[in-house]
Amino acid sequence: PKVDNPYVGVKGYVNPEWKAHAESVSGGNRVSNNPTAVWMDRIAAIAGSTGSSSNGSMGMRDHLDAALAQGAGYIQFVIYDLPGRDCSALASNGELGPDDLPRYKSEYIDPIAAIQGDAKYKNIRIVNIIEIDSVPNLVTNTSGNAGGTAMCDTVKANGAYINGIGYALSKLGPISNVYNYIDAAHHGWIGWDSNFGPVADMLKTAATASGSTVNNVTGFITNTANYSALQEPYVKITDTVNGTSVRQSKWIDWNQYVDELSFAQAFRQKLVSIGFNSNIGMLIDTSRNGWGGTARPKGPGPTTSVDAYVDGGRIDRRIHAGNWCNQVGAGLGERPTAAPQPGIDAYVWIKPPGESDGSSSLIPNDEGKGFDRMCDPTYTGNARNGNNLTGAMANAPISGAWFPAQFQQLMQNAYPPL
Ligand code: BGC
Repeated sequence: PKVDNPYVGVKGYVNPEWKAHAESVSGGNRVSNNPTAVWMDRIAAIAGSTGSSSNGSMGMRDHLDAALAQGAGYIQFVIYDLPGRDCSALASNGELGPDDLPRYKSEYIDPIAAIQGDAKYKNIRIVNIIEIDSVPNLVTNTSGNAGGTAMCDTVKANGAYINGIGYALSKLGPISNVYNYIDAAHHGWIGWDSNFGPVADMLKTAATASGSTVNNVTGFITNTANYSALQEPYVKITDTVNGTSVRQSKWIDWNQYVDELSFAQAFRQKLVSIGFNSNIGMLIDTSRNGWGGTARPKGPGPTTSVDAYVDGGRIDRRIHAGNWCNQVGAGLGERPTAAPQPGIDAYVWIKPPGESDGSSSLIPNDEGKGFDRMCDPTYTGNARNGNNLTGAMANAPISGAWFPAQFQQLMQNAYPPL
């Protein structure tokens, strides 16, 4: 039988491949013993491969065996290979085309289910993070939305994402020691009323597709590989400045939430209200949302205007909340912690700190990774980031590849500080 919260009372698996990268940077040994997720970002990652920028030679069984040897109580995998993956961006397009659902099932999910179901691993809690960004993209980045893409229309119309996720849940959920958390974007993406309910509904559609039921879902994760602050100590969504709501500021732009903790707790309630189990829990990826260092505000901003107040007091120093690639000024956030707040199963490090979000200029590669201009520090943006500069670091390698300068910055701006 499954426990309610797989993170409680046990220690997490430390990925030796990430640990070695972290320790290759000076000072990295201060954080290298934290559990991070292992990304199954291609079929070859299941067996382990050479010649990939993002994974080392250890496959899924190697990681599980190492976890047993470590005496770890849980291990985290990211299930990330949907047909037509990353439909609203280019940096993490994968190997499968939009019509490759049959391959996703037989060459990706089935082998993973076979390994995770092996009795040898029955005493370790296996956490799966299911398909980052996919369901939210079907709601917000299809036709009729500012910035909708043809690929998102295609994978919505052909059911690749919905049926792929339903299939993954239906195969992995019944395994007695497996815990599935579906990705639910972050407050700066679906915190508006127009997105909040529709994304929840679409998650339910996915969770009940291809023969799956809500019982295959342990919970949801927010902020995966993103930079949204856990809590904004000096800006509350209910604050007003001279009678004007902070929701009218340029930064918040009518969003209902200003940080991840309040969003994740509210979204959890919403999901339960539409039929997910009442004991679901949320995860929040805190790998890169610390926003410490010298630029961190020490108190609220001036009350001369809502913009001055919000911009002066917010700890999230991004140019725009839609910026997502290798953000300048970001720091490590809360270290992985079990049951930190009501409704939250854990703070986790899913995006391994120091792994790039995408290359800052075109780098030809045979890993399916495109060049997305949101990773180019000179690009002036598009509808999805309010036509702002990207705030991305220069000289970045392709997504998933080790980026030592970023890891250095993340340690320097860690909050809590190291
Ligand atoms: C990349 C993956 C990588 C993951 C973790 C994603 O953006 O597309 O290849 O494994 O980040 O760094």
